[in-house]
Amino acid sequence: NAKFFVGGNWKCNGSVASVRTLVDELNSGSVPSGVEVVCAPPFIYIDYVMQHLDKDKYQLSAQNCWISGNGAYTGEVSAEQLHDFGVPWVILGHSERRSLCGESNATVAKKTAHALAAGLGVIACVGETLDQRNSGSMFQVLDGQMQALVDEVKDWSKVVIAYEPVWAIGTGVVATPEQAQEVHAYLRQFCQSKLGFGVTDTLRIIYGGSVNDANCKELALMEDIDGFLVGGASLKGSSFVTICNAAG
Ligand code: 13P
Repeated sequence: NAKFFVGGNWKCNGSVASVRTLVDELNSGSVPSGVEVVCAPPFIYIDYVMQHLDKDKYQLSAQNCWISGNGAYTGEVSAEQLHDFGVPWVILGHSERRSLCGESNATVAKKTAHALAAGLGVIACVGETLDQRNSGSMFQVLDGQMQALVDEVKDWSKVVIAYEPVWAIGTGVVATPEQAQEVHAYLRQFCQSKLGFGVTDTLRIIYGGSVNDANCKELALMEDIDGFLVGGASLKGSSFVTICNAAG
């Protein structure tokens, strides 16, 4: 009932040469028209990617933006600037930004509301650490991350939720389809109880964490997995294109 959504989070990777190669590989791949695909290069490569990536198959995303509009915020890029430049999406609240840059639930939620108001779509990331999962606080942690969003976001039509268990990110330890499905169903239920069926019917909940061309198909079969957010495997054109075709 909602378009399958695949995001490629390039993180802080790439060079002029490797980005050119990756764009060429992506352009030569075939992506089903029923799948929404978004590529998120580092800011510095967005201009090149925008000029060269096939717009019929791929949209662009940033990996972060500032919490408010333009101003004296050295080193930051605003949602307004992304929108003005023609970048339709931004990833917010990635676990690397939460843990390495100190972004709290409230910060991520405020960024999300601001980016939406500026006209962007937002891929909002949530997920627990291994300690939190093992100690039984996983659902409480997810509740906190989601409730902060529920408190700030008025219009959910341009929000995609990315469930990215921290223990699965960059580790090669992918969540099993059952583990991912359990949390996706929980997140959908959480949204249903807070926001109603109208929102959750169309809300995409995508999975991220060691997704690759070999494990994507069985994950895509799960009822509440509406797509993927891909890190490492999004840097290889052929792997990423395979993942874009996982639901086919
Ligand atoms: P990996 O696919 O490299 O595990 O990264 C996932 C991720 O963090 C995507 O945002």
